[in-house]
Amino acid sequence: MEALNEIRRLAERIFCGEARLKVIGGRLIQADYNPTTRTVRLTRGLVEAYRRGHITLRNVEAILWHEHGEKTYYKPRKLLAVLFLTLVAAVHIIFCIIHLVVVYHMIWFTLGLLVGICLTMACFCSPLNRAKELLCDVHATVNMGSVKEFIATLSRIDKLNRDVKINPLSRFRGLFMEKLCGEHPETQERVRFLERLKKVCENKGRASG
Ligand SMILES: [Zn+2]
Repeated sequence: MEALNEIRRLAERIFCGEARLKVIGGRLIQADYNPTTRTVRLTRGLVEAYRRGHITLRNVEAILWHEHGEKTYYKPRKLLAVLFLTLVAAVHIIFCIIHLVVVYHMIWFTLGLLVGICLTMACFCSPLNRAKELLCDVHATVNMGSVKEFIATLSRIDKLNRDVKINPLSRFRGLFMEKLCGEHPETQERVRFLERLKKVCENKGRASG
């Protein structure tokens, strides 16, 4: 598949061979970076959109630079360690109270505890994740040398993804996981942020020039 080979060569250049590329299912144009396996995952929808000429190689480059930002700034080891310790503590508490309460209460307690952990994680992760996304966008624009092209990529992907017909249940599941595991800022918000940053840089250039 020639389209995929071109994307592979591009990823090789951007990540300098330090990440694997994997194509996963999904009709939407999406990508993510898995730091534990050092893998950039692209959806089949993304590869297909490039193969059909709906997005250009420069658009793919913008996406890959964003994921390179994820690799550069997102080091989740401490977060994973905290998560693991929290789960160990939770399991320990549950085992400790097994002898004290009846099974019915134990189930509700366990559920309550798990929901509490998830909500706490969501409260912590959401703002951090939103800030990380904006930082990765800045990282991508700096490496591409063009705010305009990166904004054009964001807008193009947003428009194409809106036109993709996926079943409402999958869309709802995606939205639920998004809210639970750390929100992404809306495309409009990302675009606005970059435009404001661009203006600040232009003003600064003029002031010092
Ligand atoms: Zn991201």
